[in-house]
Amino acid sequence: MSKVFNFGAGPAKLPEEVYEIIKNELTNFENSGISLLETSHRSSTYMKLNVEIQDVVRNLLDVPDNYKVLFLAGGGLGQFAAVPLNLISRTGTADYVVTGAWSAKAAKEAKKYGKVNLVLPPTDKYEDIPDQTKWNLDPNASYVHICTNETIHGVEFDFIPDTKGVPLIADMSSNIMSKKVDVSKFGVIYAGAQKNIGTSGVALVIVREDLLNQALPTCPSLLDWTANYKQNSILNTPPMFAIYIMGRVLQWIQRNGGLEGMSQLATKKASLIYNTIEQSNGFYYAPVAKNVRSKMNVPFRIGCPGDDALEKEFLKGAETLGLIQLKGHRDVGGIRASIYNAVTLEEVQALVQYMEEFYKKHS
Ligand code: PMP
Repeated sequence: MSKVFNFGAGPAKLPEEVYEIIKNELTNFENSGISLLETSHRSSTYMKLNVEIQDVVRNLLDVPDNYKVLFLAGGGLGQFAAVPLNLISRTGTADYVVTGAWSAKAAKEAKKYGKVNLVLPPTDKYEDIPDQTKWNLDPNASYVHICTNETIHGVEFDFIPDTKGVPLIADMSSNIMSKKVDVSKFGVIYAGAQKNIGTSGVALVIVREDLLNQALPTCPSLLDWTANYKQNSILNTPPMFAIYIMGRVLQWIQRNGGLEGMSQLATKKASLIYNTIEQSNGFYYAPVAKNVRSKMNVPFRIGCPGDDALEKEFLKGAETLGLIQLKGHRDVGGIRASIYNAVTLEEVQALVQYMEEFYKKHS
């Protein structure tokens, strides 16, 4: 196949420039004579890289000094367990704001370790984020957990909740580093790297200092933020190559306008697709409320409720043009375009052109 445009939800497209860097560095890392793949995690080479990447994270997100930056194995799901294991001991109960499949999974995992209060009424239709005045927050909760961008349902927070002093914990797996974030408003931020900042196997975790030293005695060392912080994220052999790739992606973000640059591009790309949907006279349908439509994952249907046969034809036609991994998640069906940082404006323009042609042909 000639050129392929990858709209997959994750592991997602990496910047082409980063592949070139990885290729060049693969067998002889920083003139050490060996690959990073066969380098000790306790070597000065890796320690230098570890600190260098922490600095890039701090620089991009303007992380305040009273936060620790950790690189932990186990991805997002690992942190679904780590959050209650490290934080629920204070009161034994936690608030979960469920706005889609991923925050629902996080709440389910937390129930193994304490009491979970669901802040919003249960639903299986995740198309909106109710106004905060309608939230049932428990003032006694050890923390409040949100997912800032629901990868499957395409629901993205357009505000930072006010949790009245209760630590706010955010799963930012699918929108981290896509825009500026005021880190000081959060107790903990975590993200699996395989969407916006690298490949699978590692979670970036940013923890406010005062939230350390509270882990349940049963917390596995691997998930214990304090134990990992004390060992500078080399408590055991970390997923070094995934961490290295994350570093190279973050440096690429720095070279390409930082978070301001990523945010402007994300707005442009998402608007192109949502406008095409809006201008299709109902041919395409985006179920999510306008103010919380994700700029990273755009789920849409053909018709409402979706026309399965036409959607199949759409996906098949897209593939023949090299527009791949557009199938919606099996939980919601339809089509989903994931347009993370590394997806270029030209790639989104190609998708939009195909959407317009398909619409003209079938309307
Ligand atoms: N949270 C979100 C928002 C996700 O999109 C995902 C993965 N798609 C996860 C958590 C789980 O991440 P992992 O597969 O790294 O465990």
